[in-house]
Amino acid sequence: MEEKKKVSLYLVATPIGNLNDISPRALETLEKADFIAAEDTRVTGKLLAKYGIKKPLISYYEHNMIQRGEVILERLRQGETCALVSDAGTPAISDPGEMIVKQCISEGFKVSAIPGPCAMVCALAMSGMSTKRFTFEGFLSTAKNSRREHLLSLKNDPHTLVFYEAPHKLLGTLEDMLEYLGDRNIALVREISKIYEETVQTTLANAVEMYKGKNILGEFVIIVEGAKKKESTPLSADELEEEFLALINAGKAKSEAAKELALKYGMHKRDIYEMFK
Ligand code: SAM
Repeated sequence: MEEKKKVSLYLVATPIGNLNDISPRALETLEKADFIAAEDTRVTGKLLAKYGIKKPLISYYEHNMIQRGEVILERLRQGETCALVSDAGTPAISDPGEMIVKQCISEGFKVSAIPGPCAMVCALAMSGMSTKRFTFEGFLSTAKNSRREHLLSLKNDPHTLVFYEAPHKLLGTLEDMLEYLGDRNIALVREISKIYEETVQTTLANAVEMYKGKNILGEFVIIVEGAKKKESTPLSADELEEEFLALINAGKAKSEAAKELALKYGMHKRDIYEMFK
């Protein structure tokens, strides 16, 4: 029988609000690992203090992951075991982790996840939306153009869409979703596992009205209903041309306009460009 390979990297899920939401196995893993790599050592330090765990901590976050990843890998090569944690939830899900997991796999180290909280899964389950098929879109970019392109690429997606968003950007994101996806049912799931947890089922248009001018607080997951049916290609070339010209008159370059319509109608950019060049 093949010998069982020792796990080198554990991805340990930690609470997303309520500190009691940590599993006995997660605590045991943190206790047993040779060292813990944490997104923010202060945040993880508090969690460890609550459970009386004393363990060497090193930081591993967005801006040091290249150099720090090497340090972690070197320790794994020496036979040590690392427990990776993020500030909250499951590491590698809109959090540091993806890169070190890839590196471990390519070096032949065994990676194992200790299951636990993940905001998108809890939010989707509570949303009341279809959970049969969904796409997790994470955070939208802050750059206006890539946000627009990202949202337009989802316009005809029939799956439930799941987004993360920071409170100070929530209103702008809802406004952009309304503009580029059209009005739809959504669920706003806020402060999961905390005192002010709430789920609001509404529409994008109502949500924009609801939050306008408000001081928005808390952590949110936005769940957006999938497209009802694929928007059909305009019936005539004239209609397509009309939309193309409207975009050009609004200041778009031809290639940009072709790209936008291609995303909107599921066509090839080149075909549209060729039609109106
Ligand atoms: N890795 C984490 C996970 O597994 O859920 C996600 C980390 S990501 C940097 C943080 C985002 O997750 C927040 O901006 C928010 O959208 C969502 N989030 C985290 N905790 C939450 C909570 N308690 N309630 C609602 N959303 C939460």
